[in-house]
Amino acid sequence: MFPCPRCGQMLPPTAVACQFCHADVRHVPRPMTQAQKERIAGSPVTVLRVIALILGAIWILRGGLELLTGILMSQTADTAGNSILSAAFAGAGFFVGIFGCIHILLGTGILFRWSWIPTAVYIFCGFGIIGDLISLLGGNGYALIDLALQTTLIIVIAYSADTY
Ligand SMILES: [Zn+2]
Repeated sequence: MFPCPRCGQMLPPTAVACQFCHADVRHVPRPMTQAQKERIAGSPVTVLRVIALILGAIWILRGGLELLTGILMSQTADTAGNSILSAAFAGAGFFVGIFGCIHILLGTGILFRWSWIPTAVYIFCGFGIIGDLISLLGGNGYALIDLALQTTLIIVIAYSADTY
């Protein structure tokens, strides 16, 4: 809604003439919608969306790498010769592949803002953080990178959960 410049009555944004005094209001600037304001001001919600998009893309990438690794491990299992080693490779490859699929699905959901994303992120990133902490205790310093990513994703989603 915006006020008529001549009589001051509130008019709908699509009005071409004032319905009260019949003034031509085609060139009267319309008030910005909340979405337009956010776009211009770079509000916290917009910043959170951009970070979520970047993280979504990272999740799809890492998921793709994991899926590829899982497939390669399964193929190694076929040529391992030793049946125990072969089963170990096949089992590990299967789980790495499944994790890859979950990461791709989460990343896609984040990009398309699917409604179940906040719940799924809390669950999977929660387990991810626990896994990273165990990894860190085991001396794997690289787990710190994943810990930072998982924590950032949970915080970003928590602060913008109502937009999914
Ligand atoms: Zn008017």
